[in-house]
Amino acid sequence: MEKTIRIAGRIKHSSVNGPGVRYVLFFQGCPHHCIECQNPETWDPKGGEELPVEEIIREIQDTRYLDGLTLSGGEPFMQAEEAARIASACKETGKSVWCYTGYTFEELIQEKVPKAEELLKTIDVLVDGEFKKEEADDSLLYRGSRNQRLIDVSLSLINKCPQFFQEE
Ligand code: SF4
Repeated sequence: MEKTIRIAGRIKHSSVNGPGVRYVLFFQGCPHHCIECQNPETWDPKGGEELPVEEIIREIQDTRYLDGLTLSGGEPFMQAEEAARIASACKETGKSVWCYTGYTFEELIQEKVPKAEELLKTIDVLVDGEFKKEEADDSLLYRGSRNQRLIDVSLSLINKCPQFFQEE
């Protein structure tokens, strides 16, 4: 049976969700319910639009001038297997993969989230943790609150603890 994902939306060219020009996929469904979330319409796992995974992959492949893919939300790890398929297809064509999640890296490697490792292995940079209103800071690059971290995923998986991403 053809695999599908439920999304809240997508942007073909974005310059604010990671470095360079990026295709951004907003996943539908989020269990975190952060106070002052900017996208509460993404919380309902039955909302949004259901699309075939292969259709999204084709659309990304047909989009010119992309440096990478950013998975955002909602919560991409609620559809980790499908997200991993899309992310690995992007990696095969040399694009970097960034992912926003309300889970922490430590929660994801404790295998409490189904298929989390499968998705983690396809991600270059993870922006982790819930948005915390009391730690909100507009001056931060690529994240909304100070508790959130930019994590170099491949190094962190080798070391089994978070290693921070350093932009060159
Ligand atoms: S994790 Fe993101 S999408 Fe989910 S409630 Fe928090 S800020 Fe909103």
